[in-house]
Amino acid sequence: MRVGIGHDTHRLTSGGPLRLGGIDIPHDHHLLGHSDADVLLHAITDALLGAASLGDIGEFFPDTDAANRGRSSAQMLHAAHERVIQAGFRLVNIDCIIFTERPKIAPHKLVIRDRIAEILKLPPGRVGLKAKTGEQVGIVGREEAIVAECVCLLEETARPSA
Ligand code: MG
Repeated sequence: MRVGIGHDTHRLTSGGPLRLGGIDIPHDHHLLGHSDADVLLHAITDALLGAASLGDIGEFFPDTDAANRGRSSAQMLHAAHERVIQAGFRLVNIDCIIFTERPKIAPHKLVIRDRIAEILKLPPGRVGLKAKTGEQVGIVGREEAIVAECVCLLEETARPSA
């Protein structure tokens, strides 16, 4: 078994919708980034790569590469997962936290969970998703940014290459 952790932060700016967890949520702000800035999928991607000791999302998809501008984070997560499978691992489960003051995540939680499960070809019961506010303090509480964290568990399917 291998455990991995991922963490990401993206700044908020005016204008919606908000791309988060592979879906577009109606909101008056969106996240800034070189790709589609999906902070949750980036944290998941880093957790998977980290558990397999394959580096991080920035090494796979550098922001200096024009090909990655506006790139779909769902596509990046899928590609990273494929690489993890090739390296001899199977994803067991993930558990994630979204830190955001607004919008309320509860109405979108099941849709996000099912979308992540679809991207990772996992049963939805293996995707944990929680949301916390910033209690009106810090970068989350002041609505300057959204932060996401993910832990994942991989099991070896073959002798790993690393
Ligand atoms: Mg990111």
